[in-house]
Amino acid sequence: MAAFTVAIDGPAAAGKGTIGRVVAARFGFQHLDTGLLYRAVGAKGGDPVSSARSLTAEDLSRSDLRSMEAGQAASRVALIPEVRAALVEFQRRFARAEGGAVLDGRDIGTVICPEAEVKLYVTASPEVRAHRRWLEVGGSEAQVLAEVRERDARDMGRADAPLRAAADAVVIDTSAMTIDAAVERACSVIAARFRI
Ligand code: C5P
Repeated sequence: MAAFTVAIDGPAAAGKGTIGRVVAARFGFQHLDTGLLYRAVGAKGGDPVSSARSLTAEDLSRSDLRSMEAGQAASRVALIPEVRAALVEFQRRFARAEGGAVLDGRDIGTVICPEAEVKLYVTASPEVRAHRRWLEVGGSEAQVLAEVRERDARDMGRADAPLRAAADAVVIDTSAMTIDAAVERACSVIAARFRI
């Protein structure tokens, strides 16, 4: 089968990770959560450019990569063009994997795979996303919302590969949707274009 790439972009906690996982399982695609690459670079410490150039499978399996702090550190190292450049080849190779691939991140449909067969932009209001994140991490909901807004501003405002929907992306706003409904919407967009 020819390569088939599904690019899923969107801000933190919009639901793209869950959608990516379910889509991959349903269509038999490989799945790459590209945020993990940036989280691993941020968590490794030291010079971020050297860290990005020498990432190992072990770096990607650290247990602390899902924390809010790791997310903030990731979005800081993600501003550095040399860090982004060091991660491009790995992501592009993954995207063209035999049997199909789904990648979720911020710049997949715009920079990494502009030729992806399906592009989805999964979003939700900052308040809804912060509430979902707060249910997972607890603490102060106002603080979680402030961090969501801070990370959005950094991801959308950066010069290199800012977060935005590709012109040909299908936008799925999950603010008022259950995750099951969002998954079904994504699957129906993919099924319409994917022929085995
Ligand atoms: O998706 P996740 O929240 O794990 O991403 C962490 C951070 O990594 C994002 O806030 C963003 O700054 C960065 N990132 C990126 N490009 C990607 C994926 C993630 O810049 N493709």
